Amino acid sequence: MIPYSRQSINEQDIEEVIKVLRSDLITQGPINKKFEEEICSYTGCKYSVVTNSATSALHLACLALGLGPGDTLWTSPNSYVASANVGLLCNAEVDFVDIDSKTYNMCVKALDQKLRKAEADGKLPKIVMPVHFAGQSCDMISIKKLAEKYGFKIIEDASHAIGGRYNGKPIGSCSFSDIVVFSFHPVKIITTGEGGSALTNDLRLSERLRLMCSHGVTRDPSKMVTKSGDAWVYDQISLGFNFRMSDLNAALGLSQLKRIDQFIRKRNEIAKRYDEELSQLNLKLPFRDFANPSSLHLYPIQTKQRGRVFDLCHKEGIKVNVHYKPIHIQPFWQNRGFLPGDHPNSEAYYSKAISLPIHPELSDEQQEKVIKVLKSI
Ligand SMILES: *Cc1c(COP(=O)(O)O)cnc(C)c1O
Repeated sequence: MIPYSRQSINEQDIEEVIKVLRSDLITQGPINKKFEEEICSYTGCKYSVVTNSATSALHLACLALGLGPGDTLWTSPNSYVASANVGLLCNAEVDFVDIDSKTYNMCVKALDQKLRKAEADGKLPKIVMPVHFAGQSCDMISIKKLAEKYGFKIIEDASHAIGGRYNGKPIGSCSFSDIVVFSFHPVKIITTGEGGSALTNDLRLSERLRLMCSHGVTRDPSKMVTKSGDAWVYDQISLGFNFRMSDLNAALGLSQLKRIDQFIRKRNEIAKRYDEELSQLNLKLPFRDFANPSSLHLYPIQTKQRGRVFDLCHKEGIKVNVHYKPIHIQPFWQNRGFLPGDHPNSEAYYSKAISLPIHPELSDEQQEKVIKVLKSI
């Protein structure tokens, strides 16, 4: 089987996890903090809070920005369901902004129009969550301008996008947003098994993220209500979850982060080969912005014969996949009043979408097979 994506684990990764297993602290030890520091140094962002998933990090990000009842979150329908679910989990309303048919990312023009209408209706969103689909950054400069005009906060769902760049900086630098979230699920760019991270340049936001990540409990004397100074005392000062990442997971992530440039280089080689070999076929190849290089988490093509291509690839052991069925047409969201036709660009994209295999473990022979099968179809 040739998967569309998978983890790349080497002996060093395994050694690093075993080291933690043999140590005194297998969770909340020194590795967790070290991983956070390395994420900061890789992205240039000031603060990073690692979590047990990107979904948890998105949830914390919404709460840290004060999303609650009566508020609204807007995101892209062309994403994994988690991007929208976290809004409802904060008891807020959720709505969607259609994608641009060229980039498959949130369309700035559609966002602008929707904001104008929302302002007239007195229903502006509190948070807009653009999703860097396939690892290609959204037009953050324009989105940030709209945020300043309309007063909303920005969470970048960069689950696909660690290793990508925007405007000369790594995605994750938080230059045009309040919080950026990465995923470390095994199909993403680097993995911790399950895991994620929320990044911000705002100290107060980082403190809120950290507090809610761990039960709302603090031992920081400057934050504690109890002033006895007794070393055993911890204070719960807010409501929180246990969304922490263990040191076992962090050790894997720290080791993986050392190879991220290698991973991205390999993904670029694979994409370049698809670009060249598939250019003559009756397919639409993915948008490529070489000035703002993608992490290339996905290589999504568009074909009118999606069903046939999908089935024939699977028959040949090529496990292509489809990203994404638009969130608003999922049964759960249709039950909440969303309808097919609400976001036509996302739906049109979905009807033809196939993600080809792209990951660091994909061999030349495997890619050759994918290309051969596509050519034969
Ligand atoms: C994978 C993914 C998530 C969820 O990440 P987890 O780490 O699995 O919780 C959220 N948003 C997008 C766009 C994703 O691809």
